[in-house]
Amino acid sequence: MAVEMGIQDLDVYGDSQLVISQLLGEYEVKKEDLIPYHKHASRLLDKFDIVRLSHVLRSANKMANALAGIAATLALGAEETIRSFDKLWSRCLEDEEAAKTIEEFHSGIYGAHQSGSKLHERIKRMGYYWPSMVQDCMEFVKKCEACQFHANFIHQPPEPLHPNVTSLPFEGWGLDVFGPITPKSSGVHAYTLAATDYFSKWAEAIPLREVEKRKCCRFHSHISSIGMEYLKESTTYKNATHSTPYALVYGVEAVLPLKLQIPSLRIAIQEGLTSDENDKLRLAELEALDEKILQAQQKLQCYQARMSHAFIKKVQPCSFQVGDMVLAVSRPIITSRKTGSKFTSKWDGRYVVREVYTNGAYEIVDA
Ligand SMILES: [Zn+2]
Repeated sequence: MAVEMGIQDLDVYGDSQLVISQLLGEYEVKKEDLIPYHKHASRLLDKFDIVRLSHVLRSANKMANALAGIAATLALGAEETIRSFDKLWSRCLEDEEAAKTIEEFHSGIYGAHQSGSKLHERIKRMGYYWPSMVQDCMEFVKKCEACQFHANFIHQPPEPLHPNVTSLPFEGWGLDVFGPITPKSSGVHAYTLAATDYFSKWAEAIPLREVEKRKCCRFHSHISSIGMEYLKESTTYKNATHSTPYALVYGVEAVLPLKLQIPSLRIAIQEGLTSDENDKLRLAELEALDEKILQAQQKLQCYQARMSHAFIKKVQPCSFQVGDMVLAVSRPIITSRKTGSKFTSKWDGRYVVREVYTNGAYEIVDA
């Protein structure tokens, strides 16, 4: 450029001590691939009457950097350039070029499927610009199929919590199967079927070798006519009801075997009673059960309200309409931490929403 402008007296600042020293002839150019550059630079310098070469620190060389940026852009032959706030010159792209650039940078050979903001940052760093680049990058990433299939699970609930309202023990049970558990237990059981009473928090669980309809039905009839007492669980004080499940079912606190060995006051009183007196005491306790249940109901409602309140804070409403294309979490759920299947798709699809039910339930069919 300086030659074309007919400049005779030139000051050259370089932030590489080595290159400056080489041009001054103080050092020899040893690297073979640098020799042609050195020769070309020396030839250029010969065209000026006076040339002063000096070395500056990189931090003090901003001016030269900016000038070099312009020279590089001009060398590209771009018709239009724009300068960003950080003094970088960018080449303006047309719609078609922009679309190609996004695709190349996101999902091309060197594409790393970066997020929209990172993608925009990278394109900008590479010296390209167009007015809607931020939005275009965001939109492109949203629609990238590979990104959708490998997207992380959404941990924000899409719907508020709908607490189950029950007012008596054993009115409703929450059932859940968990597993497969590896390694299997000594009895070759790999699953656990657990049930918790919504009201008293009474819990029952059975081990299963396989999840079969027949076994689940048998378990259901078992919990419907509670026979076995899981003392450890049922005598644990529950925050939700401010009571123990056992007390809510039987009206009295369970007598743990330990308490029989180390007599507590209650046992001492009971042992001094005749069977007639004991019956009366028991009836009085049962009469008081209604009141106890009523108290637990109130505590439960307050607890549910607190839970809902905490839950609703995290809700990010998200709903689908009939005809929307969706992906579903693939089962079994892939947790790369445990299985190492980092590259397996986390989502199954594609599906189309066929019917919308209440409380965030949908019927989906293959697209
Ligand atoms: Zn992608």
